Amino acid sequence: MKRETPFPTAQIDPDTGERYLPVPLRGAALLKTPVLNKGTAFSRSEREMFGLVGMLPDHVSPIEEQVDRIANQIHHKVSEMDKNIYLNGLMDRNETLFYRYLVENLEETVPLIYTPTVALSCRHWSRIYRRARGVYVTPRDRGRILEALRCRPKESNPVIVVTDNERILGIGDQGAGGMGIPIGKLALYAAAAGIHPTRCIPISLDVGTDNAELLADPLYVGYRKQRLRGEAYDDFIAEFVAAVQEAFPGALLQWEDFSNKTSFENLSRYRDSLPSFNDDIQGTAAMVVAGLMAATQHIGSKISDQRIVIVGAGSAGIGIREQIATAMVDEGSGRTEAEARIMVLDSRGLIVEGRPNLSPGKQPLALALEAVRDWQIEDHPIGLRDVVRNARASVLIGVSGVPGVFTEEMIRRMALHAERPIIMPLSNPTSHAEVTPASAIEWTDGRAIVATGSPFPSVRFNEKLHRIGQANNVFVFPGIGLGVLTVGASRISDKMFLAASKALSETVSHDLLESGQLYPSIFDVRATSAHVARAVAHQAVAEGLAPPMDDINQRIEAGMWFPDYLPYRPV
Ligand code: NAD
Repeated sequence: MKRETPFPTAQIDPDTGERYLPVPLRGAALLKTPVLNKGTAFSRSEREMFGLVGMLPDHVSPIEEQVDRIANQIHHKVSEMDKNIYLNGLMDRNETLFYRYLVENLEETVPLIYTPTVALSCRHWSRIYRRARGVYVTPRDRGRILEALRCRPKESNPVIVVTDNERILGIGDQGAGGMGIPIGKLALYAAAAGIHPTRCIPISLDVGTDNAELLADPLYVGYRKQRLRGEAYDDFIAEFVAAVQEAFPGALLQWEDFSNKTSFENLSRYRDSLPSFNDDIQGTAAMVVAGLMAATQHIGSKISDQRIVIVGAGSAGIGIREQIATAMVDEGSGRTEAEARIMVLDSRGLIVEGRPNLSPGKQPLALALEAVRDWQIEDHPIGLRDVVRNARASVLIGVSGVPGVFTEEMIRRMALHAERPIIMPLSNPTSHAEVTPASAIEWTDGRAIVATGSPFPSVRFNEKLHRIGQANNVFVFPGIGLGVLTVGASRISDKMFLAASKALSETVSHDLLESGQLYPSIFDVRATSAHVARAVAHQAVAEGLAPPMDDINQRIEAGMWFPDYLPYRPV
C-alpha cells in the first residue's frame, strides 16, 4: 500500500517574505480535507486558483467571524452530548476552525471534548458514530500491524495516544468506543501545547470487549469478540510497539486507560524502548506533586516535612506515591525515610507489611510493620480513621473513586495537628469527590488548602473567598509531550516528570496561592505548557537523553502551532 504524503510544510516566499502553504488539492477534495479546509474563509484569489468558484457563498469570512458563527450554532445545542457531537463534526470539517474555537473558549470546550462529556461519547460511540478518525488495530491485523499503521502519513515526531479501551475513565470496558479518549486527549495536545493536528495520532487497540451489552448490540462497530488476554495479548502489544517504532520513528507514545494490570505491565516493558508514558499513572502523579510543591512552598515548608496519606491504590495512587517519594528524595530525604512518610490505603485499609492476601503489585507500597507498632488502633484492618489520627496526617489525597470517605471527624482531627492541612479529593466525577471543598474548608476553620479532580465553585468562609484549583492533567501532559518531541528525547525519566511538576508549580502566581488555588487557570494553559515543555526538554538534555542544543526555548516557541489560516498557493 502506498503511504500518503505528509502534510505540506509552510514555506516563506523569498521575495515577499510571506509565509504560505503549498497545497496540492483542488475543488471538492480540498473542501473535504478537514486539515486544509478553510470553508468561507477561502479568499477570492484562492477560490480562483483552487477551483472553488461556485462552491462557496459569496462573502469571505475572516476566521474571527467563523468563530462567532460556531459560537452561535453551539449555543443552540441543549445537551453537553449534542455539543460534543457538534464539535467533533466541526473537527471533521475544518480542523483549524475547530482548534481556534477551542483555544478561544477553553473553559467551555475542555469539559465538552474531554471529561466529563467524553465518557458519554465513548459509551454511545456505536450510536453516534459518523466518520472515521484515528487508527483502529484489531487481532485480525496480527502479522501486519505495521501495514495498518501506515494508513497514516509518516509525519515527523508525532504523538500517539493509544488505548485498549478496557478501563475508560470510570466507566470500564467500552470496546471500540474507547477511541473517544485518544481523540479527545490529542485535541488537548493540539489546543494546549500547539502540536499540529497532523502530528496527533489516536489509536484504538480494539482487542475485543468483555462488555456483554456491547457484544449483544447490533449497532456495535467494534471487533465483536471477547477480549484477547494472556500471551496472545502480550504478543499483540509487542507487535504494535515494534510497528510504531518502524512506522513513526521518533514518536511519543502515551498509554491511556488500560486496565490496572496491563497499564503497569506495558509501561514497565516499553518505557525504555521509546519515549513513552502513562498519563493515568505518571501524568496524574506529576499534577499532584506540582500541587504539593506549590502548597508547601506557599506555607514555608517542604514536601518531605509532610505526613502524606493516599486513599486509593490504583493507577493514580501507585503513581502518586512513587513520584512523591522521588520529590522527597530530590529535597534531600533518603528513599526509605521518604517512603515511610507516605501511607497508602486501598478498599481493605492501610497497606502494611504482613497484611493478609497482599497482591504482589501492592507489596512495594506496604508500610513497615515497625511504623505502626505503637499506634492506637480501633479498626481492624487498620482504616483511614486510625491512619489519620496515628500518623498525624498533614496531606490527604483521595483517588479512591468513593464519595465522602474523608469524614468530618478525620478532617477535624487533621486540623488539630496541621496548621494548613492539604486536602486533595481527586476522584471524578464531581459526585465522587472524597469530600467537598466547602466541607473541608469549614471543618478546618478555613485553614485547609484544597485541590480537586473535578471543577468546584469557590467557597466563601468567614468573609474570605477560597478558590479551588482543579488538578486537571491538561496542565501537564501536553507540555511534557511538547518538551520530549522538541528535543527528541529517547525516553522519559522520573526526573523529567519532576521537572514538569516544578515548572507547573512555578506558574501559579502568588495571588492565586493566596486565594487557595494550587493550579493555574485554564486560560493560561498554553503558556503553562510552554513552561513545562522547556523544563522537560532541558532536563532531557541534562540527563543525556537528548542531544545538546542551545536554542531549546526558541524551538519550543516556534514549534507551537496557533490555529490560523495561512495563504495557500497551488502546487
Ligand atoms: P483505580 O480503580 O485504579 O483505583 C481505585 C483504588 O481505590 C483501588 O485501589 C481501590 O482498592 C481503592 N478503593 C476503593 N474503595 C476504597 C475505600 N473505601 N478506601 C480506600 N481505597 C479504596 O482508579 P484510578 O485510575 O487510580 O483513579 C481513582 C480516582 O482518581 C478516580 O475517581 C479518578 O477519576 C481519579 N483521578 C483523578 C485525576 C486528576 O484529578 N487529575 C487523575 C487520575 C484519576
